[in-house]
Amino acid sequence: MTVPSLPKLGTPPAPPPLRKIALEEHFGHPSLFMRDRDGGFDTRREAIIGHLGPEYFQLVQHRLLDFDTARLEAMDEAGVEKVLLSLTTFGIQAIADRDRAQSTARTVNDYLAERVRAHPNRYVGMASLALHDADQAARELERCVTKLGFKGVMVNGYSQVDAPDNLLYLDDARMTPLWEALTELDVPLYIHPRPSHNAVQYDSHPELTGAAWGFAPETATHALRIVYSGFFDRFPTAKLVLGHLGEGLPFLAWRIQHGINFSPNGRSTKKRLSDYLADNIWVTTSGNFSTQALHCTMLTMGADRILFAADYPYEDYAEARDFIETVPISESDRRKIAYDNAKALYRL
Ligand code: MN
Repeated sequence: MTVPSLPKLGTPPAPPPLRKIALEEHFGHPSLFMRDRDGGFDTRREAIIGHLGPEYFQLVQHRLLDFDTARLEAMDEAGVEKVLLSLTTFGIQAIADRDRAQSTARTVNDYLAERVRAHPNRYVGMASLALHDADQAARELERCVTKLGFKGVMVNGYSQVDAPDNLLYLDDARMTPLWEALTELDVPLYIHPRPSHNAVQYDSHPELTGAAWGFAPETATHALRIVYSGFFDRFPTAKLVLGHLGEGLPFLAWRIQHGINFSPNGRSTKKRLSDYLADNIWVTTSGNFSTQALHCTMLTMGADRILFAADYPYEDYAEARDFIETVPISESDRRKIAYDNAKALYRL
C-alpha cells in the first residue's frame, strides 16, 4: 500500500520561465578557417591543431557559421532571449600582419553587424579589434559602438603583433588610447582565452592546453597583469569581463594578494585584488556549470558581478539552462545572474 501524500491545496501556478541573456557566444567567419587544397574547410586538420575531438569540432564549426536556424532553435529551447555574439578564438589576435589584422577586424565587424540586423531582438554585437596600433583600435571600437550598435568588445587573449613571437598583452603602456576609448564609450572589455604561447609545460600533454586547463591560467594571468600594472587606478571606471567564472581568480584572490603583499617586486596598486574584483571586474558562467564554483564566486564577488553565459557552440544551451535554472541560489540572485546584470552592464 502506498502512503498518500498530504494534499497541497494552496500551491501557486508555476512561475514564468527564467529570462536569460547569454554573454560569451561565438560565431566564425569563413575567411578564418583552415582550407584544404580544394578550398573546402579543412575541419580535420583544424581539430587536430586545436586539440579538439574531430567529431566535436565538426559540429562546432557547423554551428559557428549558423545564424538563422540551429542557433536560434537552441536559444528558444533554453529560453535564451538574447545573446552577445563574438568572434571565436583566436580571431584577430593571431593575425600578426598589421594590415591584414586591421582589415580582417573591419570585415568581421561588418559581417557581424549584418547578421545582427537580421535578428535585432536576438543578437547583440561585440567588436573584434586588431591591437597593433591602439589609436587605430580605438577608432574601430568607436565605429563599432556608434555606427554598428555594438555593446562591447572581446579580445581573444594576447595579440601576436607584427611577428608570431611578439606578444602584446592589454597592460602594455601602448594600450592607453584603447583604455581611454573604452572608458569614454563606457563599454566592457571581455578577455577570452587562447592557449599559452610556446607552452613547454604542456609538452606531451595536449589535452591540458585548452579549455580543460591551460585557458584558465593564461587568461587569469592576463587579467592580473592589468590589475597590477595599475590600469584600474588610472581608469577607475574601466570594466573588464572574464569567462568561466573568473578563470580561477575568485578562488585564488586572497592568496594572490597575500603573496604580492610580501613580495611586490616594485608593483604598487591603490587597492587589493578583491577590491578590483568588486569595482572593475565581472565574470560569466560560460562553460563552468559547477555549483561549488558558482558559490565560491558569489562569496568572493557577489551575485551582482556574475552574468549568465553558455559558450555556445562549444557548449550546449540546454546544459547551461539546466544549471542556472536549478543551481541552489536565491531566486533574486538567479534572476540577476540570468538576465538583469547583463541588461545593466551592457545597457541592453
Ligand atoms: Mn568561449
